[in-house]
Order: sequence, then structure tokens, then C-alpha cells
Amino acid sequence: MRYNIPMKTERFSASDHRIAQHGIRSSAGKRAAALLLCLLMALSLSGCGIFSGDPVGLERFSDLPGVRQIESFFEALNRGFGELLGNDDLIYYADGDKDRTDTSGTGGIRKGTDEGWQNGLSPQGSARFLQDDVVLVSVYLIDGSNDFTDDEISYTKEAVDIAAEWMEQKAAENGVSLNVICNEPSLTYEFEAEGMLKESRKEISLTYADTIGEFLYTLDLNAIKETYDTDSVGFLIFLPGEGTSFAYPYTPTGNAGWDTISYHEFANLYMYDESAPDEYENPATYAHEILHLFGACDLYQETKVDNISQELSDYVADTYPDEIMYYTYEDDNTSNFEEITKDMSPVTLYFIGWGDGGAMIEQFPEIKRKYPCAFE
Ligand SMILES: [Zn+2]
Repeated sequence: MRYNIPMKTERFSASDHRIAQHGIRSSAGKRAAALLLCLLMALSLSGCGIFSGDPVGLERFSDLPGVRQIESFFEALNRGFGELLGNDDLIYYADGDKDRTDTSGTGGIRKGTDEGWQNGLSPQGSARFLQDDVVLVSVYLIDGSNDFTDDEISYTKEAVDIAAEWMEQKAAENGVSLNVICNEPSLTYEFEAEGMLKESRKEISLTYADTIGEFLYTLDLNAIKETYDTDSVGFLIFLPGEGTSFAYPYTPTGNAGWDTISYHEFANLYMYDESAPDEYENPATYAHEILHLFGACDLYQETKVDNISQELSDYVADTYPDEIMYYTYEDDNTSNFEEITKDMSPVTLYFIGWGDGGAMIEQFPEIKRKYPCAFE
């Protein structure tokens, strides 16, 4: 599933904390895109070769055409069918079981658990736990003449550092050991991909997810894990333009082919803020997107696939207005480029495995998860 950042909104009033969102399921254009996706899937399954070919090492998945689209593809497909049928609840699961939420869990900090592996893959994806040593790989996407200036690259490094330091500080406050390894020259890549800036801005782009996914698959995840003695590696894709930053965390489906391909989790960070195109994307947004890779959910709107109700979103807005998964601008709607002043509510602490959710779990038991730092 693709997770966006909340757009900058009008200043909050006491009576209305909700952020106006563009209706992701409502426009005619989106419906047309959904129909196209259904057609693409039909073509893909019939093997007409409309999707890009198998990259090196993927031959064993050749019986799964279009396997690269994985999460985004099926999310798009669900949305497509949901729109066609007027049913937003329609979710695709590989095993055909609509609701796989384990409601027997009680939450709690489960550091470094090895539960839930399937087909040799952890339910947490490549960025497993936000604990101990965590590696962030930087990928600068260059799209034709859309490149980065030295100043822009310097800013991205600074913003990643601020986000990393903030996460480490929050970890310490919550009794969690965390060391974020980032901005390492040996973990920094340039990736030239014509047309991808435009693709990235689409609500649904199989081409983008496919292209980035294929590139990340060429990076040796196990070698990075070995070199840095960690089992948590996230990927940051820097995009040379303005846009609404987003993330692709891993969601296991139980299908070995799809899960293997979608295992590399990546955050997509635009250089400039779509809400204020003359400003850089702020460090809080970097942290917000990185937290998605470790299980955090958007809390700024109802998100049915994650059991985030509007009631919960409203509750967070009222009770924890500084929640970073709720909003990434300051109270006066400006961006803070010096520091992150945001916090994490018990909901986010629970999702990333740093807390047991406390009373929030009693109040909103539907958010219980089987495993920490993992999407279901
Ligand atoms: Zn988000």
C-alpha cells in the first residue's frame, strides 16, 4: 500500500482538527485508472508482456507475470474493484481470507521477535525493527534533466540526520536502544530513470513501483545486513522536484514470489514540498515516511486497510496533536527545518514496537497487530 504524507492544511481550530484530503477514491480519473489497471492485470496474466521483463534473479518467479507490482498493484486493484463495486472495504488477500487481524494479541513491547516468518521472510520486511542498529540506504533518482544541485543534496543529508537524531532521541525517551546509520557514502546510490519523476506523482503508478522495485532488488540486502551487522535496512528514494512524499512498506501476502519482490521497503522523499513548492520537504516529513517502513500508520484520516477509523484519527488529533503520523507541520502551518518538534502517540509507539498501546488498545482494539513493526 502506498502511504502519503498529509497535505498542509489551514490552521487548526478547536472545533475542527480534521485535515481536508483530496478524495482518493472519488475522481473520474481515478476510476478510469482503476479500470485500466484491471485491464493491465488481465493482459499481464495472459502473458502479453506488457510489464517489464524479469530482472536478473527473478526467473524463478516467471510464473507470476507482473510480480513487481505486488503491493501497489493489488492495492490499486482493490481500489479499482472497490470503486467499481462501490465497496471501499474490498481488500485482496492472497489466501482469500478477508480479515486476518489477530484479535487475541494484547500488545506490548516485543523486541526483536522472530515470530511470523514465512518463506524465509520476516513479516516486518527489510526494515525490521526500529531498534539497535538500523541502516538507511540513500538513492538519488535522476530523471533526464531533473537532477540535484549540491545544495539540494546537502539539504537531504541534513534532513535525514535530523530525522535520525529525532528517532534516536524518541527511542531513548522510551527506553529503546537505537542507532540509525545513514548518509554513508558506501550506502548512497544514483539511479537514472527517465520519466519516473512524473510517474511518482501519480496516485497509482505500476511503472514507478516496478522501476524502483527492480532497482532495489539489484542491491544485495543480505550483504548490507552482514556488513552493518543489522537486520533492519530501509531505503530512501530522493526525487528531484516537488510532490507529496510517500512510502511503500512491506505487507506479507504469504505468496513467496510477491513477498520476495516487495521485501525492500522504501520511502519516497521529494526535494520540494507540494504544499509550498519553494520550500524543501521538511525533516518531520522525512521522519514520518521513515516510520512507515517500521510499521507506523497514517493517523490523519480513516484508513480502512489498517483499521484506522475516523474516530481514532479524531481522538489522536484531540489528544495527541503533535503526533507525527498525524501532521508534519508546525501549529502555525510552517515547516521547521531546524528540528522536529513532533512526538509519537501511544498508537504509533505500539505500531513500531516501542510500547503496548496502553488505554488506546482498550479503546480501539481493532488496531491490535499480530507482530510489531509489521503490516497485516
Ligand atoms: Zn504517511
